[in-house]
Amino acid sequence: MTSDQHRPGTWHPATHLVQGGTERTPHQETSEALFLTSGYVYETAEEAEAAFSNNLQRYVYSRYANPTLSMLEERLRLIEGAEACRTTSSGMAAVFAALASQLAAGDRVVASRALFGSCLYIVSDLLPRFGVETVLVDGTDLNQWEEALSTRTNCVFLETPSNPGLEIIDLAAVSDLAHRAGACVVVDNVFATPLLQRPMELGADIVVYSATKHIDGQGRCLGGAILGTKEFVSDKLTPFVRHTGPAMSPFNAWVMLKGLETLDLRMERHCRNASTVARFLESAQGVGKVLFPGLESHPQYALARKQMSGPGNMIAFEVEGGKDGAFRFLNALRLIRISNNLGDAKSLVCHPATTTHQRLAEEERRRLGITDGLLRLSVGLEDARDLESDIARALAAAGS
Ligand SMILES: *Cc1c(COP(=O)(O)O)cnc(C)c1O
Repeated sequence: MTSDQHRPGTWHPATHLVQGGTERTPHQETSEALFLTSGYVYETAEEAEAAFSNNLQRYVYSRYANPTLSMLEERLRLIEGAEACRTTSSGMAAVFAALASQLAAGDRVVASRALFGSCLYIVSDLLPRFGVETVLVDGTDLNQWEEALSTRTNCVFLETPSNPGLEIIDLAAVSDLAHRAGACVVVDNVFATPLLQRPMELGADIVVYSATKHIDGQGRCLGGAILGTKEFVSDKLTPFVRHTGPAMSPFNAWVMLKGLETLDLRMERHCRNASTVARFLESAQGVGKVLFPGLESHPQYALARKQMSGPGNMIAFEVEGGKDGAFRFLNALRLIRISNNLGDAKSLVCHPATTTHQRLAEEERRRLGITDGLLRLSVGLEDARDLESDIARALAAAGS
C-alpha cells in the first residue's frame, strides 16, 4: 500500500511508471504480485450476497476485476492524469469498447481518415452496420473538421501521429470544435505514448492505447487500455466490458506493469535513435521523402513541437523504385526485421501498401500518401550506428 507521506498525487510520470498503483499483499513482496485467478472465494453466503449487491467492494470474478489488473489500471491512470482507467485484451478491444459503449443507432461519428487499419474498419464498416453514421475527414485540415462538426455529433475519433503517414492533428483545435458540436473526443495515442503527448490536457475526453506496442515494448503480450472520466468509466464503459468480456489476462497485465517500469528510459532512447536515423535517411541516396515529427521538413513540424514533448520512434520514408525498390531494400536488410508490429525494442519495418493497408482501395491509399515505395520504420533500441549501416547497405542493394 502506498502510504500517505509518499503522496503519489505529487509524483511525476517517470515515478508513477515505476511505483504507481503498487499494492502489496501481507507478504510485502517487492515486485508486483501476479494473481493468476479467474475467481474468488467467500467466507460466508452472506458475504457472497453482499458482494453481488455491490454493498461490499471486493473482487468477485476476473472478467470484472483482478488485483494485478487493478494495479496496472491505477498505474496507467496516474501516468495519464485521468480520473479512471480500464484495461482490455488488446488495443482493438479498447478502441471498440471506447466507441461501442457510448454509441447507439442514429448517432454520428466524425473521424480522421488516416487511421490504423482495424480502427478504420470499426469506424467505416462495423459501426454503420449498427446504424451509426460515420463521416471521415482529412485530419490535418481544420476546415474539414469544422464543416463536419457543424452538425451535432456524438463522437470524434482520431489518431495523432497517424499510422503510417505520421500526420499530426491539432488536438486542442479539434477538441474545441468537437465539444461545440456536443461530441466526446476519443484519441488513439499509441504512437506518442502517454509520455510524449497528453491529449486530455489539450481537451480530449477519452484516450485509448494498444499496450501491445511501447507499453509492453518488448513484443510479448497483447493488451489495451481506455482512460476517461469516472462517470464515463463507471456508467458506460464498465457495464459494457463486464458483460462483453474483453478482459486482459492477469499474466499480460503483469508483463505490462514491468514494461511500464522502463517506458521512460526506452522512449528516451527510441526518440534519440529515431532522430538520428531520420536525419540519416534524409541525406541518404535513393530515399525520397522522409516523414518524422522531429524533422524540420515535416509539414506540421511546428504543431508537433507544440503538442508533443518528443518525436517518437516511428518514421515513414520512400525508397526510390516503387514497390520493387522497396522490396529489394527490405530483402537486403539484415538487422532491421520485416514485421508489421511496432514500438518494440527491436527495429521493425513494413511496407504498408502490401500489408497493413492492403485492404484499402488504391485511390484511398494515394489519398493517405501510402505510395508503392513507402516504408514504415519502428526504430528500436539498438545502437543507431548499426541501424544506419544496415540501412546504407540495403539502400545500395536496392539501387543496384
Ligand atoms: C496496434 C495499434 C492498434 C491496435 O492494437 P492491438 O493491440 O494490436 O489490438 C490501434 N491503434 C494503433 C495506432 C495501433 O498502432
